[in-house]
Amino acid sequence: MNRSTVWHPFTQHATEPAPPTIVRTEGAYVETRDGKRILDAISSWWVVTHGHRHPKIIEAIRNATETLDQVIFAGLSHEPAEQLASALVDMALPGLDWVFYSDSGSTSVEVALKMALGFHRNNGAPRSRIVVMEHSYHGDTIGTMSVGARGVFNAAYEPLLFEVDTIPFPASGWEQKTLDAFERLARDRQVAALIVEPLVLGAGGMLMYPAWILAELKRIAERTETLFIADEVMTGWGRTGTIFACEQAAVAPDILCTSKGLTGGSLPLAATLATEAIFRAHYSSDRARTFFHSSSYTANPIACAAARANVGIWNDEPVVERIAALSRMQAEKVARFSRDPHFENVRTSGTIAALDLRVGNAGYLAEVGPKLRAFFLERGLLVRPLGNVIYVLPPYCVTSDELDRLYDAIDEAAGLAGNKR
Ligand SMILES: *Cc1c(COP(=O)(O)O)cnc(C)c1O
Repeated sequence: MNRSTVWHPFTQHATEPAPPTIVRTEGAYVETRDGKRILDAISSWWVVTHGHRHPKIIEAIRNATETLDQVIFAGLSHEPAEQLASALVDMALPGLDWVFYSDSGSTSVEVALKMALGFHRNNGAPRSRIVVMEHSYHGDTIGTMSVGARGVFNAAYEPLLFEVDTIPFPASGWEQKTLDAFERLARDRQVAALIVEPLVLGAGGMLMYPAWILAELKRIAERTETLFIADEVMTGWGRTGTIFACEQAAVAPDILCTSKGLTGGSLPLAATLATEAIFRAHYSSDRARTFFHSSSYTANPIACAAARANVGIWNDEPVVERIAALSRMQAEKVARFSRDPHFENVRTSGTIAALDLRVGNAGYLAEVGPKLRAFFLERGLLVRPLGNVIYVLPPYCVTSDELDRLYDAIDEAAGLAGNKR
């Protein structure tokens, strides 16, 4: 074979080995060309929910292609998008009555930010500040990098990023600081919206905070007429134990972003759900108030059909029970590390478990990161630590034995920190 000409995402080609070629996916596994089965312990970057190639989703995709491919979504509509939208409105938190489609998590967040600014402007009281939480991640486009944590990932693009106001992460014992900071910023009524990842900050290091903080933030947002944007791109579709994480705080956001698990992890699709009030602000005989946004592949019919099949699985299969069982297993199995001196901050939220390997130099570029990845891959495990943060975010079909194998490997990996056995 000729040398690969593929430039991979978040990959330092100078130091990383050539990636294995995957020729098949099934359930909790991806399989390489030379027949090695690798347990996908990170759900292929958090997208695969039920398992790779769930038969009902694959069948829906096949059926959709019998009659449809891409159709322009301005001026035309189609059944898969209509049916999915009403299913999403039924499933999501109360008040989210409108569904705007796009094609990636980042785009769904860009759409949310544009909706928020459009809302205030069209209502005659423009606001443009965005409040974000420390350590957040909302995507890799210029707008979503602007509302995300600044660091080595975006240092080169800093001059293009817009200014935001950052509230501290609500670390245990310091929650009031977060709430006070938000209250202070929101009180001057220049803040268009607060954007948060509910309960779990994913790429920022699987940082977790309790539901009551979310509820308090929402109360402050309501009092100050600040819009509340829930970025559920990662947390949605059962990851934290409920379909959407906001449910656990009984919080109804003004805008909700969903992508990753929306199609069960089969095809790219995203949706930004919004309240009637936000839709109304753009509803006018004045065409200048139109919501001016589109991606070419908005509401791709095949992706919508896959997402509709995913919703069908949630309705027809005991997914909620499956997630509850997985959440219990995760909590039980990761608990063995709570008294292990090689690890700290052992934590879970629903189906997600995370723990920090104690190392001299922590952070995303921690040298132990690539070493850990190679260590796990050799053992047929796809694990991708965020620096020294090891996390297990598996498809819901993973078994207890498979998790045991994984946690045994994590135990062994403690040796890589250079201070065990
Ligand atoms: C992954 C992620 C995004 C970006 O989604 P893409 O589909 O990669 O653009 C946005 N927000 C959160 C919370 C995410 O985890």
